[in-house]
Amino acid sequence: MKLLDDRILQDGRSLPGGILKVDSFLNHQLDPNLMYEVAREFSRRFDNVSYNKIVTIEASGIAPAIMLGYIRQLPVVFIKKKQPSTMDGMLISEVHSFTKDRTYTVCISRNFLTPSDRVIFIDDFLAYGNAAMGMIDLARQSGASIAGMGFIIEKGFQGGGDRLRQMGYNIQSLAIVDSLDGCRITLRKQNTPVR
Ligand code: 5GP
Repeated sequence: MKLLDDRILQDGRSLPGGILKVDSFLNHQLDPNLMYEVAREFSRRFDNVSYNKIVTIEASGIAPAIMLGYIRQLPVVFIKKKQPSTMDGMLISEVHSFTKDRTYTVCISRNFLTPSDRVIFIDDFLAYGNAAMGMIDLARQSGASIAGMGFIIEKGFQGGGDRLRQMGYNIQSLAIVDSLDGCRITLRKQNTPVR
């Protein structure tokens, strides 16, 4: 997606340890126009997929997910990183965050992820695929199925995308970073039309 590629090259910063900092439009300050275009692209890419719900994980997945939910007029649920004391009937999984180097207990209410749900999972980044594996585990526990997964930025060199595609999932990444070596951002050329 050219708009996104250009923005990553213009405003992204490559940090040591294979981390891409994009906090001026995605992880701290948010660009609503870009989020809307990102969601339109997800909507197009999942156009021939049948789904009734969008699931994301807090916090940075929420903005693109709610935009997609608005466009498709579908409910959006976010997986929580802290278990609320007021809720029972939660499904629980563990997700390791390599950017924060800690493991979270993540949870979602059984009321909002059910066997009748066909889900599109949306997140900001795909790195090793740990968050996605948490989603897969929660879906398995609930009986929901996963119709596809959409990521704004995939870091191709960390292998999560390859792993998930090998598992048979429909993975759509709007930008793919091939390398962050030498503080240089190298993006993969994808055959998507310029919009
Ligand atoms: P994964 O679970 O696929 O290993 O990593 C994805 C999660 O880690 C995303 O939800 C995102 O919050 C965070 N993450 C992974 N890599 C990066 C990165 O390079 N930059 C930022 N800002 N977040 C990242």
